[in-house]
Amino acid sequence: MTRHDPDIMNLLASRPSLHMDAQDGLIFEGVPLQTIASQMGTPCWVMGAGTLRRRTRNLRKAFTERGLGMSIHYALKANDHLATLAVLRQEGCGADIVSGGELRRACQAGIHPGDIVFSGVGKTDAELNLALQEDIGQINVESAEELRRLSRLATAAGAVARVALRVNPHVDADTHDKISTGRLGDKFGIDWAEAPALYREGCALPGLEMIGLATHIGSQILTAAPFRAAYARIAEMVIGLRQEGLPVHAVDCGGGLGIRYRDELAPPPSILAGAIAETLGSLDLRLAIEPGRWIAAPAGVLLTSVIGLKAQREGISDFAIVDAAMNDLARPSLYDSWHGMIPLAPDLAYAETAPLSVVGPVCESSDVFARDRALPPLRPDDRIAILDTGAYGAVMSSTYNARPRAAQVMVENGAWEVITPRQRLESLWADDSIPEWLGAG
Ligand SMILES: *Cc1c(COP(=O)(O)O)cnc(C)c1O
Repeated sequence: MTRHDPDIMNLLASRPSLHMDAQDGLIFEGVPLQTIASQMGTPCWVMGAGTLRRRTRNLRKAFTERGLGMSIHYALKANDHLATLAVLRQEGCGADIVSGGELRRACQAGIHPGDIVFSGVGKTDAELNLALQEDIGQINVESAEELRRLSRLATAAGAVARVALRVNPHVDADTHDKISTGRLGDKFGIDWAEAPALYREGCALPGLEMIGLATHIGSQILTAAPFRAAYARIAEMVIGLRQEGLPVHAVDCGGGLGIRYRDELAPPPSILAGAIAETLGSLDLRLAIEPGRWIAAPAGVLLTSVIGLKAQREGISDFAIVDAAMNDLARPSLYDSWHGMIPLAPDLAYAETAPLSVVGPVCESSDVFARDRALPPLRPDDRIAILDTGAYGAVMSSTYNARPRAAQVMVENGAWEVITPRQRLESLWADDSIPEWLGAG
């Protein structure tokens, strides 16, 4: 199947937070991105608070329209900046966390512990104890061993853990292999066939209050079928457990709703709401979802500047070498992901295009943002925005090649503010030390 890349006009048409101004160039939530790039330098992440709000409200509306009460537990790992979390807390979101660090972050952002759900395949005793101490809303248990260990820890702490079992429904989410989590052989969740016995056991163990089931089958899911298949299995299990007289009050439907990066037919949230309504809607359950990407990805762009160009022989695209790299945005090198790119300058945006490969300066052949991309003729110092990088962007960045972490800015309604300054170079080695036996020389 050949795919057709959207041109800049198409990219803008499906991204209402962005528009091209004939004078000021690319504008994000009322702020000319050239202004930010000039004052902050590049690379620089820009997060749109208004976009986060709009998307959260659209998501909520889809469930309201199906008559479903739905808690949104935003998956922190997609973008855990305190400013992002502050916006989402204002929008009524709780948090889905996968580590003790994320638990502390969510609390730091003012998210009420009762609105926090702890997922993850490997929770340490220290992390579970922290969750018990903070009395968070729900712990999604992923194995028999974890269930028994949590019971012991809760009993010792004189606490009661509210538990959902994360079930692996053996559904193929039909997404990238590295972001699929609900198949037989994936490391996540409790095998579908073993879950009822474990639920029974959990109801009898001290220190636990079994409240329900959870599932999360993968990320960037683009059709309703895998969601519906997973939720149908969960619904069946809810009914079976209740027939045994066991309490099942809540189902956590996970995250995974995909977005359009390139030309995907991204499902609107009504598709997800429909799949949940049809399978779980009549079971009198407290329902929750854990979206990350769908809310945050389109709310962020990464600004970068062209360092230089490298001409290639006839038939091979020239390289545009930019000042952002795989240490900033890892997704293209990790998952071969496609991200839209728009020049910030208005004269470039609609210029004639030719194929270019856009690469970063890191010494790895996988440090490529785009191959053979139709782009206007870029020159050194031209700036571009790499789109849909608000999720799994800054959170995955590293300092590989001694590249400090990029600055982050938040925009809303024409205003902007720095939310993380560019990392100081010296901080890269500030915690290094040299063993005494090496001596000073
Ligand atoms: C990553 C993750 C999510 C969020 O996934 P998205 O695809 O970003 O929506 C939700 N729940 C769990 C358990 C996760 O690990």
